[in-house]
Amino acid sequence: MSSDTTADRQLNIAVLYPELLNLYGDRGNARALERRCQARGIDASVTPVDIGDDWSPGDTDIVLVGGGQDREQRRVQADLQQRGAELREYVDDDGVVLAVCGGFQLFGHQYRGWDGEIMEGIGVFDAVAAHPGPAIQRCVGNVVAIWEGETVVGFENHGGRTYLNEGQEAFADVVSGFGNNGGDGLEGARAGNAFGTYLHGAVLPKNPRLADRLIALALERRYGSDAPELSRLDDRAALRAHAEALHAAFSPGESALGRRFA
Ligand code: GLN
Repeated sequence: MSSDTTADRQLNIAVLYPELLNLYGDRGNARALERRCQARGIDASVTPVDIGDDWSPGDTDIVLVGGGQDREQRRVQADLQQRGAELREYVDDDGVVLAVCGGFQLFGHQYRGWDGEIMEGIGVFDAVAAHPGPAIQRCVGNVVAIWEGETVVGFENHGGRTYLNEGQEAFADVVSGFGNNGGDGLEGARAGNAFGTYLHGAVLPKNPRLADRLIALALERRYGSDAPELSRLDDRAALRAHAEALHAAFSPGESALGRRFA
């Protein structure tokens, strides 16, 4: 039986490399989670984790990592490697993760950058990513995908293409846009409670159900059957942003659909 009180409930959110991996305002994902917790009386702390910081995921409920150019990915790569075993353990223990674009690529096995050099990932997702080189068309535009029967929207801009290994679940199915590689119709990856996606936006403010799913999974993990129900919030602004992103993806100027099947 879930409890109907949120009193004394607390979630700890960690944001990995918030200065370096913050493309298109990915840090807004932390703000959205924090706000949606606070609106329900759940205390939310947000801890930035930078290169060299003394941090381990021990008491963390949600780990966020954003996107970045190849250059920034290269800067964080060695530090992330050192945290890899602990992060994999955290995910094995049902820890919640949202990894976006460049962060998503580094949470797979490896990312081969535009210059051909390999960056080792931490293997949370059974996936590899590769940039076919500077001459290739980037995957840019508004994305619409279906996640558990619902639309998720966001903005993508990546040269790297991600391929999921057999048995690795995708996060969503692409309706419009490129998603993982513009070929197999898949978007992102999901392993346990870890979500990887190419969607910026930031993605959580305009996909409130996804934000609430992350919060609910984290509460369940921390409080078990005592986890509070999430009350409904006034999401009109968030849903308007969601609707506008849908509209943008399908408007003639955008032609994401054309590009996807080109
Ligand atoms: N550098 C990566 C690529 O171009 C990721 C970019 C991003 O995070 N938007 O594929």
